[in-house]
Amino acid sequence: MRIDVISLFPPMFEAISAHGITGRAVKNGLLTLRVWNPRDYTEDKHRSVDDRPYGGGPGMVMMIEPLQRAIRAARGEQGKAVKVMYLSPQGRQLDHAAVLELSKREGMILLAGRYEGIDERLLQAEVDEEWSIGDYVLSGGELAAMVLIDAVTRQLPGALGDEDSAQQDSFVEGLLDCEHYTRPEEYAGRKVPEVLLSGDHEKIRRWRLKRSLGRTWLRRPDLLERLTLNQEQKQLLEE
Ligand code: SAM
Repeated sequence: MRIDVISLFPPMFEAISAHGITGRAVKNGLLTLRVWNPRDYTEDKHRSVDDRPYGGGPGMVMMIEPLQRAIRAARGEQGKAVKVMYLSPQGRQLDHAAVLELSKREGMILLAGRYEGIDERLLQAEVDEEWSIGDYVLSGGELAAMVLIDAVTRQLPGALGDEDSAQQDSFVEGLLDCEHYTRPEEYAGRKVPEVLLSGDHEKIRRWRLKRSLGRTWLRRPDLLERLTLNQEQKQLLEE
């Protein structure tokens, strides 16, 4: 997958390109990540990318032209079919289903806003979709873009080793994940559940499924309402 990001702060993306699972995906060539700085597409000596809002009021607004040139440069490398996606609190909210959908794409161009936002005419002319990571306002679209990239990368075939398989993750089967334990066997009087030390794989599988169901029922009953439970799940939930 190829992802181009338009951002005033390219170094922020080292957080994902140089570390962890996303860093490994970049290294293995599963993910190609390039960040384009609109400041490199300005034509005045101050390299201006923002200006005061028409109508007055606080803050600055990102100008059309540097963004448009940066987006078009990225489009030039990815091709016309690629979608330009603006990270915005007003966009469609990212969830597991959306992440799966996005992970099937060959590429995307992510646009990170700053200040009060971006001149509306740039959005109308260049943006295909708007995506939000939640109902709150960030100072910029970079963290939102990184959240999207991280979540999507985890779904790329081969991005996760066996040791960090996504199979049991929350939302994958429509349930929350069960709890996890590692050494020591006892900590401050709290013991690891005995079944996990039993070596009985079938018993452990059933225990984990039961805990997942229980947690989902307690913490996110809305998820259970959307799920059609199979025979085993129904039985475990009633036990
Ligand atoms: N004035 C804008 C509004 O209220 O809709 C918010 C501007 S915000 C301070 C600056 C930038 O952060 C936005 O252009 C957007 O790219 C990004 N951003 C803020 N909150 C976000 C969210 N929840 N999801 C995705 N991007 C967000």
